Amino acid sequence: MRFLRLSYQQVQIIVGQAQSGLPDEICGLIVGQKGIAQQIISIPNRSETPETHFDMDAKALLQAYKKMDAVGGELLAVYHSHPKSDPIPSQTDIREAMRNMPNVTQLIISLKQQKARLQAWHIHDGRVDKVELLVGNEKSRSMQSLSRAQVIAILVMTFLAVAFLISLSISLLPPAPPIPTPQ
Ligand SMILES: [Zn+2]
Repeated sequence: MRFLRLSYQQVQIIVGQAQSGLPDEICGLIVGQKGIAQQIISIPNRSETPETHFDMDAKALLQAYKKMDAVGGELLAVYHSHPKSDPIPSQTDIREAMRNMPNVTQLIISLKQQKARLQAWHIHDGRVDKVELLVGNEKSRSMQSLSRAQVIAILVMTFLAVAFLISLSISLLPPAPPIPTPQ
């Protein structure tokens, strides 16, 4: 199964690039191993219509490939931003991906809404499939679920403590004064 795993920090880097590149689209490469991103390489967008297209600078792309070979990483994904549209590949994106990078995941960052949205795609043989995008690593995920369990435990303990204190304070109330009986 195909997936792309990015750390929170890597997502922040890509979204930051997309925001600072506005109103233009930005682009770059994600290098790593076995679906796990290790490096984010920003590539200048040389398109003549950068607000709606991206065209990676050839020289920067070549340098990025050399760097990738040197560190022994593989090209996991190409990323680009959509300043005003959803994170879905356009017809141009599909055509270009099939022609230039047929087996490389395409990650699109949409800034259409206030909160950036990311979606990864696999484009091949005219088909467009979603690629599972995982953010964060296993360790932080298990820590998150642990802290959720801890929160529940704390809530239960707080409830029990309050219940205990209430029953304790009731039991410590002075006995009710005897009701005076008429002589
Ligand atoms: Zn696009």
